[in-house]
Amino acid sequence: MSQTPIDVALIADMLDLQKQERLPHAILLVAPFGFALKGNAKAIAKSLLCQQQSANGCGACKPCQAFENQSHGDYRRLAQAEGKASIGVDQVREACDFVAQTSGYGDLKLLIVDGADKMTVPAANALLKTLEEPQGNSLILLTAEFSWALPATIRSRCQQRIIKPPARELLEAFLTNSGQGSVSSAVSDYELLRMAAYAEHSRPQFFQLADSILDALITQQIDVSQAYSQLDKTDTLETVNSLLHATESTCARESDAPNTSRLLALLELQQVLGAVLRRLRLGSTPAKEGLIYQICTLIAQVGRGDLAAVAESKRLLGINT
Ligand SMILES: [Zn+2]
Repeated sequence: MSQTPIDVALIADMLDLQKQERLPHAILLVAPFGFALKGNAKAIAKSLLCQQQSANGCGACKPCQAFENQSHGDYRRLAQAEGKASIGVDQVREACDFVAQTSGYGDLKLLIVDGADKMTVPAANALLKTLEEPQGNSLILLTAEFSWALPATIRSRCQQRIIKPPARELLEAFLTNSGQGSVSSAVSDYELLRMAAYAEHSRPQFFQLADSILDALITQQIDVSQAYSQLDKTDTLETVNSLLHATESTCARESDAPNTSRLLALLELQQVLGAVLRRLRLGSTPAKEGLIYQICTLIAQVGRGDLAAVAESKRLLGINT
């Protein structure tokens, strides 16, 4: 995997705030399509912990070297554990204890919560306590692909920063280095960013498949049973997650030339997929086949802009949003 492009202006801004001693205690990082969230969070952390306060770290000072060796005592990164669908309360408690300790280097303590939207409700509540009572010189950097999935109480405690999409040539280089081959100049900047976001994912095939199926189903080029037979049903959570990503980008595209009833239906679809995803992350294991089939049915209804049918599907899925 090639290195993700870094938002240099954002890092410079963070370093300025640090010099003025005006760093907030909590920052929520978001990015279009969630692209380069992890890379940027790490680069911000490294810059702020560097003794030289050098963008992306000088690489030579003691803190930079410790950061590289993953032995920096004032830095911790929290993410969902391998094979787990969510970030659990024990993980968060342990990380909050870390934030509460005095810093070893006498400076900043920094915690990254990667994929904060994957926290369970108890985990989010545990983090909220720490956010409500910030400790000394500490910064908690949260990243979220779906920031709306975070509890409002968490969001309101964080300063939100949006990562600016990288320049086209950087995205092209990233895609080439990720083994995606060269990109035609006919591809729009928007599509390019989306391709980069997919390439960054550990299983890009889920996203490509979900994207093409969502599009074909909405435009009625295929029917529900065709869509269902094509979807990879080996991992329900990944399938729902990738359909949600595809829905978000379709919403963004539709907003440019809105067909009102379809856009409304798409927003409903987004809510439903979000709710299903949360449920799956909490460990609910519904009958897989039924769930995916029902979601395909819902997508077809969304394509027709049939809001009454959409409401019925929501009822069948047990979602009241
Ligand atoms: Zn350094």
